[in-house]
Amino acid sequence: MKEFTWEKYDGRRILLCGPFHTCMTILLDFAESYNGTIYICDNENAGEDYGLLAEEYLNKCLEHIGDEDIYIREMISEDISILNSMDIRIVSYDDIGSFREDYVILAGKTFFNMYCKVLGFRGLEDFYSAVAALKKGFAKQYYFSYFNSLYRKQKEGLYIGGVEINLTKRCSLRCRECANLIQYYEKPERIPAETVIGSVKKLLSAVDGIAMFKLLGGEPLLEQDLIIQILSLPELKDNRKVLGIQITTNGTMLFREDVLRAMQKEKRLGVLLSNYGNLSVKEEELKEQLTEYGIAFSEIGLKDEWCAWGDPKHVYHDEGRAKYLFDYCKNKSICTTVLDGKYYTCPRTAHGDRLGFYNERSVDLLAPVETEVLREQLKAYYFRSDSPEACASCTGHCGIRIERATQTNGRKIDL
Ligand code: SF4
Ligand code: SF4
Repeated sequence: MKEFTWEKYDGRRILLCGPFHTCMTILLDFAESYNGTIYICDNENAGEDYGLLAEEYLNKCLEHIGDEDIYIREMISEDISILNSMDIRIVSYDDIGSFREDYVILAGKTFFNMYCKVLGFRGLEDFYSAVAALKKGFAKQYYFSYFNSLYRKQKEGLYIGGVEINLTKRCSLRCRECANLIQYYEKPERIPAETVIGSVKKLLSAVDGIAMFKLLGGEPLLEQDLIIQILSLPELKDNRKVLGIQITTNGTMLFREDVLRAMQKEKRLGVLLSNYGNLSVKEEELKEQLTEYGIAFSEIGLKDEWCAWGDPKHVYHDEGRAKYLFDYCKNKSICTTVLDGKYYTCPRTAHGDRLGFYNERSVDLLAPVETEVLREQLKAYYFRSDSPEACASCTGHCGIRIERATQTNGRKIDL
């Protein structure tokens, strides 16, 4: 997908393709940078007043918000007035043929095939992505999530919903319920730079697209040189393969200035601040840093509870149930994982395999094979139908809640 940026905007018309509640996130962000007419293709509501529709929709949202949530109420009221002040025209499929040479931005996955058909487009490559033009972290976040499943469904080519690149197994915290199983490593180790960089280069050369490219750990800020090296890779910079880039941190450390400068240049990038309550001692300073450098960020984990993933060695589900969970598991699409030079289905399969809990299949990204061969291996693996061993020991879908970020005080958890 091509990148749309305000820096390169040349005055052509902007057409957002997507249902109206999806376009709303983008419009609210665009309002800061643009005051011309924006067209939206939403067949259902063609010709209607977008401001009024938005007002009706947002007012319905307000009905579900308690009187005590004054901040959210104020935010929604502000959104209504922003949308009402924008020049937005809603057009139908029949009207969009003439937009082919303009900025046709895919705003959401719904109706994607219909847009391709009506515009005479072949696929993702014909559309622009809004992510580099979005200034707010939460807007980027929403945008990514619309595309994860669209990429997954692209059976032509190799489009991956999300990839988590593990920069290290080390972490500044040791959470008892870490979903990445860091608590079970005897001595969480660094991953050699050549392994991380080598596997990223190989992966990027073999795929057609990745909706969300995530750098995490352990704690990725323990490996800031690696962040700079990855951001400067030509494979990441010079192609249209990666829709968005995300760095996830636990709020215990700050970015170095040279890293912030490198991040600032990358408009597709957003930082995800995982809030660990009192443990995220640098959270506020981090936000100040990111604001100062104009880097988009959003915060997650504000609730006091986490989802429980279960004891990785305990078998909770029989074969049939494990397969059922795998078939409906979103993580196999949005959280595929690169660890120690290998490509895995999810973090649990990756770390569980490295820890010796399971004997999982993976794709060796560093094996000396031609790019085409690697591509076929990745494709077969990504669309696998057999469930990994780890699924029988995974309670991530069961809705069990536990206290957020309880620490082991540096101790490894024995099973
Ligand atoms: S902060 Fe906790 S949950 Fe996050 S990677 Fe480190 S140990 Fe895991
Ligand atoms: S172990 Fe299986 S069910 Fe659990 S997150 Fe991974 S793929 Fe999904």
